[in-house]
Amino acid sequence: MRFTAKKSLGQNFLIDKNILNKIANIGNISKEDKVLEIGPGTGNLTEYIIKANPKAIVVIEKDFRLVKILEKKFKNQIKIINNDVLKLPESFYKDQYLVYGNLPYNISTQIFAYWCLSKKVKFKKLILMFQKEVADRIIANINTKNYSRITILANWKFNVKKICDVSPECFFPSPKIKSTLLEFTPKIDIIKIKNPKNLENITKIFFNQKRKMIKKNFIKLFRNYDYVSKTINIKLTDRPQNISVEKFLRLVIEFENNLK
Ligand code: SAM
Repeated sequence: MRFTAKKSLGQNFLIDKNILNKIANIGNISKEDKVLEIGPGTGNLTEYIIKANPKAIVVIEKDFRLVKILEKKFKNQIKIINNDVLKLPESFYKDQYLVYGNLPYNISTQIFAYWCLSKKVKFKKLILMFQKEVADRIIANINTKNYSRITILANWKFNVKKICDVSPECFFPSPKIKSTLLEFTPKIDIIKIKNPKNLENITKIFFNQKRKMIKKNFIKLFRNYDYVSKTINIKLTDRPQNISVEKFLRLVIEFENNLK
């Protein structure tokens, strides 16, 4: 069957065997693992995952045409869910999956932020491909221009490791941009906040005005701004990029204490 890739679904399929092998190996898949693959496409990576023989493989693919191809190729070796990953409820993630995803670039930040902010969704590990620009933001250091909202969310929940950049030629059709593979291992002792929505909102408010001093927003958010800034050791002349992940979380805790 002739298959035409849909740009709107980010269909750039990985074809480089070395990279496919490398990605599958990073997960260190064991017999006990339940693997979840997001956007398996034509199943190029799925093949390597099957070879590692995990306990179960579940794949989520939005494109029904690809579901048909996957069914034919893998029969009952995998469980295929024909759905939009953005529409899966938190209850779907009841197993602590080892997740693989060569994510469609147009939804990668959205789904990843949702996973970070959900209290119920837990993973064993995530191995995800992002467009390089987004990956650079996730792994950015404080006080750099790439330090962003997604840096805070990712580093709150996970230890993040860059595995490698992946060049456009490793895909077909080949995209215009470079990609980067990242590995996320859940942190054991995450800083506890009552409601992740507050982290979502506070980071949104600050990073919407990335280049401005935080003063105006800070005073709006905290009646006791003088006390909060001294306790957390944040200067009102700081810019969002100067505030560490830990300090952002302490800000959320102060905000939640003020709500009491
Ligand atoms: N993993 C495959 C590979 O590496 O060859 C394909 C990766 S391709 C970049 C992205 C895949 O995600 C496509 O198969 C596409 O149809 C699927 N996809 C796009 N949007 C999706 C969504 N919202 N939910 C689930 N799958 C989606």
